[in-house]
Amino acid sequence: MSDNIYDVIIIGAGPGGMTAAVYTSRANLKTLLIERGVPGGQLQNTEEIENFPSYSHISGPDLAQNMFEHALKFGAEYEQANVQDIADEGNIKVVYTDNQTYKAKSIIIATGTKYKKLGIPGEEEFSGRGVSWCAVCDGAFFKEKELVVVGGGDSAVEESIFLTKFAKKVTVLHRRDRFRAQPILVERMLKNDKIEIVYDTLVNEIIGENKVSGVLLENVKTGETKTFSTDGVFEYIGMNPVSDFVKNLAITDEEGWIVTDDRMKTDIPGIYAIGDIRKEAVRQVVTATGDGCVAAIEVQHYVENLNAQLAESLS
Ligand code: NAP
Repeated sequence: MSDNIYDVIIIGAGPGGMTAAVYTSRANLKTLLIERGVPGGQLQNTEEIENFPSYSHISGPDLAQNMFEHALKFGAEYEQANVQDIADEGNIKVVYTDNQTYKAKSIIIATGTKYKKLGIPGEEEFSGRGVSWCAVCDGAFFKEKELVVVGGGDSAVEESIFLTKFAKKVTVLHRRDRFRAQPILVERMLKNDKIEIVYDTLVNEIIGENKVSGVLLENVKTGETKTFSTDGVFEYIGMNPVSDFVKNLAITDEEGWIVTDDRMKTDIPGIYAIGDIRKEAVRQVVTATGDGCVAAIEVQHYVENLNAQLAESLS
């Protein structure tokens, strides 16, 4: 095999991908880390991390920067590019980006998730004009405004608290009467004077002229509908996997989550998946980094075996 072939290409520079890069490059594997956006993944959209051991408080972007510097410290190469396809040619995997083709003996997929959308009238129309999926990016545009947050998971609860730094009032609209989020976060939200909660409520439409002025709500228990005034809508209703580029490989479930075993192996030898993209993931920073370590160690064994087989076939 030629020297232009990487031992491993890691796709996605979130916590999982960056940890894998530390381990594989430190083990002297020729490593390429590819990321289409800014390194950090969901860390970039997170104001505060307080459950990553050794940091009782660090901003998401700061942790991302630390991890990125660490990821490149042992010689991993880095490219900013959008991966569009992967071809499995047996011992060689080919990665097609928007402007290059790369070859590798193994692949670690760490592309994570993107925010789900409500899919209701007004959502696309007012995207960027009052509708947002990123409080860290857009919260500061809503100083002294009134906002709604849709959802009842960790993201909705955490981000509603964050938005009170800017907004006069935040109303959390949840479709059930119990939160899915961790109790410690719910407790903090309930103590926040600027937050009001409306349970059992769906958002059916986002309305406005040039920008958002309200939402059309429906109470799921009574069927009652009403218009609720707001300056902005932050949607936190869960995540979808970023896995379109692997659809030819048949390694996902029907929703696009990548299926692995507990050693991060997919059904294709030499292709691994880690972090939030995995079907069974816990979806925490610390578990993504753990997955990255496991996959990197598996990759070391896989590449060693592959090299040994190739050496034997040439002798
Ligand atoms: P999530 O846990 O899937 O929660 C999504 C929420 O949105 C649920 O409350 C769900 O309601 C609601 N929802 C879903 N579809 C809806 C719709 N069409 N209309 C209205 N509401 C809808 O998503 P997430 O909060 O983004 O979290 C994703 C993962 O990341 C989780 O594993 C989470 O634990 C993790 N995370 C962890 C932290 C942390 O540890 N600090 C922070 C953020 C995220 P139901 O409850 O009725 O299903």
